[in-house]
Amino acid sequence: RSNAEKFEFQAEVSRLMDIIINSLYSNKDIFLRELISNASDALDKIRFLSLTDKDVLGEGDNTKLDIQIKLDKEKKILSIRDRGIGMTKEDLIKNLGTIAKSGTSAFVEKMQTSGDLNLIGQFGVGFYSVYLVADYVEVISKNNDDKQYVWESKADGAFAISEDTWNEPLGRGTEIRLHLKEEAGEYLQESKLKELVKRYSEFINFPIYIWASKEVDVEVPADEDDSSDEEDSSESSSKEESEDEDADKSEDEEKKPKTKTVKETTYEWELLNDVKAIWLRNPKEVTEEEYTKFYHSLAKDFSDEKPLAWSHFTAEGDVEFKAVLFVPPKAPQDLYESYYNANKSNLKLYVRRVFISDEFNELLPKYLNFLLGLVDSDTLPLNVSREMLQQHSSLKTIKKKLIRKALDMIRRIADEDPDESTDKEKKDTSSDNNEKKGQYSKFWNEFGKSIKLGIIEDATNRNRLAKLLRFESTKSEGKLTSLDQYISRMKAGQKDIFYITGTSKEQLENSPFLERLKKKNFEVIFFTDPVDEYLMQYLMDYEDKKFQNVSKEGLKLGKDSKDKELKESFKDLTKWWKTALSKDNVDDVKISNRLDNTPCVVVTSKFGWSANMERIMQSQTL
Ligand code: ADP
Ligand code: MG
Repeated sequence: RSNAEKFEFQAEVSRLMDIIINSLYSNKDIFLRELISNASDALDKIRFLSLTDKDVLGEGDNTKLDIQIKLDKEKKILSIRDRGIGMTKEDLIKNLGTIAKSGTSAFVEKMQTSGDLNLIGQFGVGFYSVYLVADYVEVISKNNDDKQYVWESKADGAFAISEDTWNEPLGRGTEIRLHLKEEAGEYLQESKLKELVKRYSEFINFPIYIWASKEVDVEVPADEDDSSDEEDSSESSSKEESEDEDADKSEDEEKKPKTKTVKETTYEWELLNDVKAIWLRNPKEVTEEEYTKFYHSLAKDFSDEKPLAWSHFTAEGDVEFKAVLFVPPKAPQDLYESYYNANKSNLKLYVRRVFISDEFNELLPKYLNFLLGLVDSDTLPLNVSREMLQQHSSLKTIKKKLIRKALDMIRRIADEDPDESTDKEKKDTSSDNNEKKGQYSKFWNEFGKSIKLGIIEDATNRNRLAKLLRFESTKSEGKLTSLDQYISRMKAGQKDIFYITGTSKEQLENSPFLERLKKKNFEVIFFTDPVDEYLMQYLMDYEDKKFQNVSKEGLKLGKDSKDKELKESFKDLTKWWKTALSKDNVDDVKISNRLDNTPCVVVTSKFGWSANMERIMQSQTL
């Protein structure tokens, strides 16, 4: 093409395309899901803009926010078209090739180790999956702010962009034309595409149509040499006009009552999805399978792993909203890496069914960032900017309710898990709960740190979060246990909850600090995660019981009658020792009943750092 401008793909993108086009990955179906998801995103964007500016939608067909799939069996072209926001020339250059997304190299790396393309959407490079099935792709796009352009590439390291002077004008939106590879012929079958759309795109909130062939009985005039009969046969090859043809005919019919019935192949737009949003339905009527599938579509994760839990509810009162929350089965790799500077939430915000944003951090506190889901509110205003919305007073109420519901949902994982039950009988006999068995320890392994961060950050919900805490102890026998369980095992007269911090359970088990406590049969919690030291600066008490670090001053194991006597008789020794070690090294030297075999031990003062904290602080400054 004479007006084509050539561009090189950014190196990492080029590598990715190379891998994809040569991939032997068997599940090539995923490309359709990615294209439909992009079309849906583009439609969300234009609908959002139209809230504050009605004119952006234009008129006529342009106002129809839908997705259309069409096949050209002869030319082996599959096209997917949307009336979304479209791309300007600059958008095409940037989004489809020259600016690599942050996930590109991460995905390339992952591909080389696992070869599993299923997660491509999560890495923000889903578009390139088209090269699983096509060796030549055209993207025709029209954005309100620019002319219509064509992007095209054969995945050979380069792409071209031309002003579109030959295709039909799109009005607005994007059409992706896939020139299918020889071996991808199955995607020219309507039935295959219908099945895929139904399987993968059930939760797309825009109608998806396919230009489907249909065998229909058509009434034609009985009179053989009628001129309109000839017209019929000439028009049936032109698919676009078959609808008009029907309309013409019915007029004809009225005039000529003598007709006969013949079979004919016509084409029409067939709707493939039910656009009633799952969150608007009654939770009682939504099946477990539907929630699981909905989770997969939100997470862009199409493995067969189930979410660990979900909560679907309606909030009423001053602020009305519906929400669905999910606990994923696994934490993303970077969940804590980017914790403090991440500006990302996994909750989608809708206002009256209209998608607003998935970058709204105001809905959940950071420590609940691992949850997925959506909120649809009728109370929030529709016709304001995102910035205005961010400051809306209702958000605080929504957030408060979401946190409550989220913590309830997490607690339910524990409540339903037979492994968590202290009731021995229940543990052994409940077979119907087998599916829930071990779910809480799974949750804890993936997201325990988030709960700890919550205890540190969220004073209001500290107690609720502390209930969710799990740890090992001198009596937990290698299993996880909870504070409630600890309390149920406390000895008569025991006032405090005892714990010790360190690098590992093995190291702590031999600590001299435990000698006496073990001998006296007191239970001591092991805190071995670096974050635990911080945690215990915030978690002062639980159910009216104070926490006592057994390596710190203040440990009370009950009165011993000999205490006073001993103190008295060793007075000279402790006095001498204190001066010998000097004030710079120790605060005090005391007789203690905390040890058994070990003669002496260094104890940290009540408000000082524990030895473990010293170690953590040192490793951080290095
Ligand atoms: P992601 O959807 O995660 O952003 P993709 O690789 O699927 O990643 O798409 C890359 C980008 O290309 C999108 O972010 C979007 O800007 C643009 N894009 C792709 N398809 C369309 C479309 N149908 N309409 C408008 N923009 C699109
Ligand atoms: Mg995408």
